[in-house]
Amino acid sequence: ERTTVLITGCSSGIGLGLAARLAADAARRFKVYATMRDLAKGERLLERLGGRCPDTLELLQLDVTDPRSLAAAAQHVQGQQLDVLVCNAGVGLMGPLETCSEQAMKTLFDVNVFGAARTIQAFLPAMKSRRAGRIVVSSSIGGLQGLPFNAVYCASKFAVEGLCESLAIVLRPFNIHLTLVECGPVHTSFMANLQRPDPEGSEMRGLDAETQRLYRRYLGHCQSIFRDTAQEVEDVLPLFLEAIGSPCPPLRCASTQLLAPLRRLRLSSPDGSAYVRAMHDFVFGGDQP
Ligand code: NAD
Repeated sequence: ERTTVLITGCSSGIGLGLAARLAADAARRFKVYATMRDLAKGERLLERLGGRCPDTLELLQLDVTDPRSLAAAAQHVQGQQLDVLVCNAGVGLMGPLETCSEQAMKTLFDVNVFGAARTIQAFLPAMKSRRAGRIVVSSSIGGLQGLPFNAVYCASKFAVEGLCESLAIVLRPFNIHLTLVECGPVHTSFMANLQRPDPEGSEMRGLDAETQRLYRRYLGHCQSIFRDTAQEVEDVLPLFLEAIGSPCPPLRCASTQLLAPLRRLRLSSPDGSAYVRAMHDFVFGGDQP
């Protein structure tokens, strides 16, 4: 019996890499439902697998913001019984909060938070009735600690953390394991896809000069952090494989120790101000008031 795995957001990045890895498993242990908004983008995944669709792979259309496409995917898969659900689809939004439009904030939450909640809702009843299953969710380091100029993105991943931690408590007697994977920077299309204002662009007009200066500094910091520490998709796949295969997977696993001392400081100093100060110094330098 193959382990059936459905993954959201497989047209690029981590989703694509995970789908390819599982579908190409030498022992053919998995049947992968690789889902994406636009099936035309499945070409990249097929190319990765040598141009053909192996019988370990099926491409399915799924937009996590569209309840009808979720219902259709769930109905299609349910006959096969789903062992593992990977909620990976996600988008980013960067920039001073004042520049984030209402629409951009709502869209981000619709994908990152409600998208994950809807996807879990669609597949949970069948897992509960079988009293078996795994749910793996792409969270982020930004789900564990606030990051400057990522307020809305971090808010969405904090929400995902709260959603999943709460759910995990209830899922215990159902033998359904839930794992949050918290990646740091990973080389994917995430940065290219993410919405962020150009520091010289029109969105910045009217924003105070100090915030503009901090934002420019942040972009420079971000670039060097990415250059020096970003991981490859291959480096983070083991966390997902562990969550799928381990007899007793953890609730959380982080892909990198980057910012780990700051995360510890955040927990050990619960009033939060030491974290805010240290993070500010880390990103903007210690010479700020
Ligand atoms: P990516 O942009 O390559 O992949 C995200 C995928 O989600 C894309 O294929 C995109 O088409 C898909 N998607 C977006 N909206 C969707 C929708 N409505 N329905 C279905 N699919 C949708 O980036 P990635 O790095 O592979 O991101 C995967 C996950 O990892 C995301 O949840 C992201 O927040 C998280 N993450 C990424 C990084 C990073 O640095 N790359 C760091 C931490 C966490």
